[in-house]
Amino acid sequence: MNCRHCSTPLEHVFLDLGFAPPSNAYRQAEDITKPELYFPLKLYVCDHCWLVQTEDYVRADELFSSDYAYFSSVSQIWCDHAARYVEMIIKRLSLGPKSFVVEIASNDGYLLKNFVARDIHCLGIEPTASTAEAAERIKVPVLRRFFGKQLALELADEGKQADLIIGNNVYAHVPDINDFTAGLKAALKPGGTITLEFPHLMRLIEDVQFDTVYHEHYSYLSLFTVERIFEAAGLRIFDVEELFTHGGSLRIYGCHADDPRPSEDSVSTLLAREDRQGLRVLTTYRAFQAKADEVKDNLLGFLIEQKKQGKKVAAYGAAAKGNTLLNYAGIKPDLVPYVCDAAPSKQGKFLPGSHIPILPPEVLRHRCPDMVFILPWNIAQEVMQQNAFIREWGGKFVTAVPNLKTF
Ligand SMILES: [Zn+2]
Repeated sequence: MNCRHCSTPLEHVFLDLGFAPPSNAYRQAEDITKPELYFPLKLYVCDHCWLVQTEDYVRADELFSSDYAYFSSVSQIWCDHAARYVEMIIKRLSLGPKSFVVEIASNDGYLLKNFVARDIHCLGIEPTASTAEAAERIKVPVLRRFFGKQLALELADEGKQADLIIGNNVYAHVPDINDFTAGLKAALKPGGTITLEFPHLMRLIEDVQFDTVYHEHYSYLSLFTVERIFEAAGLRIFDVEELFTHGGSLRIYGCHADDPRPSEDSVSTLLAREDRQGLRVLTTYRAFQAKADEVKDNLLGFLIEQKKQGKKVAAYGAAAKGNTLLNYAGIKPDLVPYVCDAAPSKQGKFLPGSHIPILPPEVLRHRCPDMVFILPWNIAQEVMQQNAFIREWGGKFVTAVPNLKTF
């Protein structure tokens, strides 16, 4: 296999998590006895452009089926993050009624609704039917397509180039990152701005976030690598911010290569920091597997100990990253009998691979678990606040990454 950006043959394994089912392939009760598809979950690093990438990829249309269950609006923190972003970017770019905003992977309209409320024209691009329908119900226009160069050229032909293109947590999820980036270039008006948010590879390595690895997440990105990909497409990164979302993300600001706006110091400063953290030497990548295994071993040891002591354990958050961790560790309902999730679309289903049943959070009140194991550690604070009542019977919260902690 060759690097998806620069075509260099890939020789160096960054992480091998064995085989796993797609992390969003939640199982219905009637499917639980049927065979389940497993795919290799292995990451390589390119020693030329340093793009970390999944080995083989499953076809996108298999992974994002029409009942794909994730609705962004379920997380209040995520909605607040989107609202703050919209307020900031309208001011920074002086957007108004004549502006046109495109969001790629607009999900259920959680972000674009803030532009609709300010009478700024916008268009969401979202291939998933259930979330697209939810967006249209709140008056967010949606094009049900996958974004790429082809679609961008069609938009450009129709005179629909954007003043602002937003891509939050989509860039790392596209199989063909060069084609997607060429699409950004084609869909951007002269003088327009692109903002993309994606998890930062530097933080993944520092905080051993190996559970954020799943098939739908094709690329693991540093600023260094994204800058190269942008450059190759005739784009330039002129500013970057570090965000707390998803365990540490970057928000990059892009423009056409010949845009007169100068690049901010933030770009060179962060590039230098990535270099100091070893993101351009192979030994950094080679050391990661052992760190991931240590996290997995500690969690398993802890859960086995709880079982021996007769403690009641529940998990919280049927998120993709939970599935990676549970499946790599081989955790089944004997160690974690159920997982609670606030999303009605997931309740009543089973986690892929581990087949742990998903129940509404209310069951915690009568099952009174001793330990609530929070799978999406990035929203641990929110989960602890919402479920603080487990303290009434002495219940505790647990997170496993970057190291085992009880609260
Ligand atoms: Zn490469």
